[in-house]
Amino acid sequence: MAAPDPDASDLPARPSSYDWSGVAHGCRRKLGMKICGFLQKSNNPDEKSSIVGAFDQASTPRKFPSGENESRFRRNETDFSNLYARDLLPAKNGEEPTMQFLLEVVEILTNYVRKTFDRSTKVLDFHHPHQLLEGMEGFSLDLLDQPESLEQILVDCRDTLKYGVRTGHPRFFNQLSTGLDIIGLAGEWLTSTANTNMFTYEIAPVFVLMEQITLKKMREMVGWPDGEGDGIFSPGGAISNMYSVMIARYKHFPEVKTKGMTAAPRLVLFTSEHSHFSIKKASATLGFGTENLILLKTDQRGRVIPDDLEAKVIDAKRKGYVPLFVNATAGTTVYGAFDPINEIADICEKHNIWLHVDGAWGGGLLMSRKHRHKLSGIERANSVTWNPHKMMGVPLQCSAVLVRERGLLQGCNSMCAGYLFQPDKQYDVTYDTGDKAIQCGRHVDIFKFWLMWKAKGTEGFEQHIDRCLELSTYLYQKIRNRDGYEMVFEGEPQHTNICFWYVPPSLRGLRDVEERRQRLHKVAPKIKAMMMESGTTMVGYQPQGDKVNFFRMVISNPAANRSDIDFLIDEIERLGQDC
Ligand SMILES: *Cc1c(COP(=O)(O)O)cnc(C)c1O
Repeated sequence: MAAPDPDASDLPARPSSYDWSGVAHGCRRKLGMKICGFLQKSNNPDEKSSIVGAFDQASTPRKFPSGENESRFRRNETDFSNLYARDLLPAKNGEEPTMQFLLEVVEILTNYVRKTFDRSTKVLDFHHPHQLLEGMEGFSLDLLDQPESLEQILVDCRDTLKYGVRTGHPRFFNQLSTGLDIIGLAGEWLTSTANTNMFTYEIAPVFVLMEQITLKKMREMVGWPDGEGDGIFSPGGAISNMYSVMIARYKHFPEVKTKGMTAAPRLVLFTSEHSHFSIKKASATLGFGTENLILLKTDQRGRVIPDDLEAKVIDAKRKGYVPLFVNATAGTTVYGAFDPINEIADICEKHNIWLHVDGAWGGGLLMSRKHRHKLSGIERANSVTWNPHKMMGVPLQCSAVLVRERGLLQGCNSMCAGYLFQPDKQYDVTYDTGDKAIQCGRHVDIFKFWLMWKAKGTEGFEQHIDRCLELSTYLYQKIRNRDGYEMVFEGEPQHTNICFWYVPPSLRGLRDVEERRQRLHKVAPKIKAMMMESGTTMVGYQPQGDKVNFFRMVISNPAANRSDIDFLIDEIERLGQDC
């Protein structure tokens, strides 16, 4: 089937000055012609040549800032159809094709970046799995015995982006992690180029130190004295939460490490109905069993009711179980609710229970002087999960678990593998932090985050967070009294989550409550499907408890502004008109 142009749509026509995309994509070259078939729409020779000129100038060899090297390479008209991976470095004479190939890749990536921020570009060009599996024109996912030419490989790179979702687009609101941060992206490129592993100082000296410095800074933000404590970057909030349960168990029942769960009494964990499913997953994975995770009641806004916690702790003790761990969520995934940490901490202290704060989503608010009060009491936690890849816009993935007491992570997880963690190295081996992890190899997630912090300062993150919260207030004000909208919970939202139903005109007069419920349940999925087909914007929906499907708007994208919020609302109304 013919591949539709991702940029052709019923969106407003883009200004003609935009049309140089083809040039940037390499229209002057052979490969370019293949790519341009999709991208170019009209031909304005004047504009084109001026842009080509600009490009030629831009690629004039220049001294690198380091002063170490002249840039000897500029893009030329390389014919990639007769070149293969085997012709690239380390092949003999591979330097020139390698540089040409990489410059071409950079061109594809930078072009993608540029278009991501262009509101006349679609958020996605949706295809069903069977369509992508059958293969699009010039793009097949099948793996063959024979190598493909680099020309094809470049087309594959471009098409992979083309059929994906632009998560950095100003109108992408679907997930808690959105946005495309340029410094973070540069950080990822560098990280992949360095291609090392976090387990030892030996092979990642700079990254290991950056991790220590950054973790300390995060602990300072949490409010632990002098930023003391421990921590590690993990592959996501779910794993960070799992770490917290593991460490809590190690703290109270260290013999479980060697003897297994039979060495412990029946342990129970507590978390709210609105908490993230990863706490339940941790209970299953770590051998507690999901039935030993006790769910706490919340108020109408999704915040834990402390009295319910206390009652359930006492009840568990009465039954002879041992309450081990309480999770308080700072920024729940759907409602954006902040559990009352201080009141929960009082109960945990009284009963000697480990307190974990899951700030995967809300942790970022610690960077804001205006909003950090929502996490007050977090300094009393024994451990904290905080995902910079969510509210702080760090590229995926980047999540940390912070632990107040030093040594527990090491004690809990170390296996002292002799081939990695030799005690007799020439440097201070306490910097070989890898044995704290449950992993062996560990990806370098720190550099992009460190680089962003350096480039923006704490203030830059603060401004980003304040802006996102302002935008969500704008949305809340806009829809709370608007015809056809109903809020899922009353009152100003605490985080950027705005949960609402859109009630199409056909349902507004409906008296039969049950029929209305059933029909309303189908509205959000229908609108969402149409949204994805037209590719204009994306926002999530879900049911929650006894509430039928509603939209959950979340804002963490630094590219979004008020016009994008207006657009979303117009789009929901346009698509939902006839639901
Ligand atoms: C997203 C989220 C998680 C899980 O984080 P991942 O990085 O996706 O694993 C955990 N807790 C909360 C509250 C979240 O919103």
